[in-house]
Amino acid sequence: MEPENPNEYVNERNADPFDEAKEYELNDRRAAIRNHQARVAADRADLPEPEYDEDGNRICACCTVVLDAERLEAEPDARLCVPCKSQWEKSRG
Ligand SMILES: [Zn+2]
Repeated sequence: MEPENPNEYVNERNADPFDEAKEYELNDRRAAIRNHQARVAADRADLPEPEYDEDGNRICACCTVVLDAERLEAEPDARLCVPCKSQWEKSRG
């Protein structure tokens, strides 16, 4: 169906549905990033304090196993070993 007013038709064409979709997608993504950042910050606040053994090695705050260098390199402020961390993450849902 052709619109009666040709200018109306032009305006409709200018409202690019792809731009709009992109805008929505961007907003979604921004919201997701904000949620993620808030979640990460909350996780950090909930984590136990870093603990060390008498030799100054960082130990898991849960099972007290010494965190290896590789683990600390991957996550410099790790406070839990990998199994405890995944347990902890699971417990948070
Ligand atoms: Zn552990």
